[in-house]
Amino acid sequence: MTRPNLPATTRMMERLDALALVTDEPGKITRLYLSDAHRRAIDLVSGWFREAGLNPAVDAAGNIHARFEGREPGLPALIIASHIDSVRDAGKYDGNLGVLAGLAVVEELARLNERLPFAVEVIAFGDEEGVRFPDTLTGSRAIAGRFDPSALDGRDRDGVSMRDALAAFGLDPDSIPSVARQPGSVVGYLELHIEQGPVLEAADEPLGIVTSIASIQRFTAIVTGEAGHAGTVPMAYRKDALAAVAEMVLAVEREARHAPGLVGTVGRIEAAPGAINVIPGSVTFTLDLRAPDDAARHALVARVLAALEEVAARRGVTLALEAGYEEQATPCHPAIQSALATAIESLGHKPLRLLSGAGHDAMAFEKLCPMGMLFLRCKGGISHNPLESITEADADTALAAMLAFVRTLDPAALSG
Ligand SMILES: [Zn+2]
Repeated sequence: MTRPNLPATTRMMERLDALALVTDEPGKITRLYLSDAHRRAIDLVSGWFREAGLNPAVDAAGNIHARFEGREPGLPALIIASHIDSVRDAGKYDGNLGVLAGLAVVEELARLNERLPFAVEVIAFGDEEGVRFPDTLTGSRAIAGRFDPSALDGRDRDGVSMRDALAAFGLDPDSIPSVARQPGSVVGYLELHIEQGPVLEAADEPLGIVTSIASIQRFTAIVTGEAGHAGTVPMAYRKDALAAVAEMVLAVEREARHAPGLVGTVGRIEAAPGAINVIPGSVTFTLDLRAPDDAARHALVARVLAALEEVAARRGVTLALEAGYEEQATPCHPAIQSALATAIESLGHKPLRLLSGAGHDAMAFEKLCPMGMLFLRCKGGISHNPLESITEADADTALAAMLAFVRTLDPAALSG
């Protein structure tokens, strides 16, 4: 590619480096919702919004938002957003990239004195990761009008409720419902995010268009056998709960390999009593199943549970399942997908489509307005890790694609 880098790209990369220094844990990137680091991040990012000529405000949920007006003031807005909170010991780009890319798009439009037939609203959500409180997507749900006030009673590990943390931050928890956007005021929602997976790197493409955000179902499984002496109970007489779970883990893997797009993970196993000379009598394990759509997820869950029951019955152990978190698939809007494809092709790249296995702020917007996501290649597919890495060239391609997208986006095509 001979196109020179956009002026906004280098600045965005420098800002991502600067934002990475704002942390609750020195030496690591840890920025939890409503923490001291969140406050400092709000100050830093708001300063960049002002440098870009915007007038940022912080809402009752702790989101920063600012509007770049369209051809006339007060037009419905395209929201470009992501989050500035992080997991513990995070990387630089998860979330932050999408916020600062939104800002860079606006800066580039302002530099060229371009006004669009809609406003652009850039938002930095305060809580996507859900690390501090039991709930997640607090910021995006508030803006999308899907905030559940019962989340305010959730407590962090020090026993502080979200309600008290918001108040201590100088925010009014009871005003959160009022930050919701009205359907007619929003044209659509766009989020740039690192892929957090290896698909784009393997395809040698910088950008991918997200087709949908995966359907998820989680369980906690408890397998009960019979504990006994590791020396005196002959193999034929055992009901070893851990040996049964070993077969179950492989059954999960086998069933998830049944079709493309399915994933199944056993992430935690605890065997009791947990001694070197005792046959495990009881084992608890977690199960995380995801699929591109709800029908595929229901089918995967049915196959996995049948396989687990078969192992339990054959081995004479009992299986108890507790259903946990469940999230329906969130499809990205077809018109946003095709507008992103046109934008990517205009840069000479392939409009690769892929599924998001991870949840994102974008999910909260699906019912409010047409929603779409763009994924950026990240090194080794690594995320939630200080080794997260992207290239400046890829970041520049992403900004160019986002600019091409906003320049050609027809709001009428989205509402039709
Ligand atoms: Zn993220």
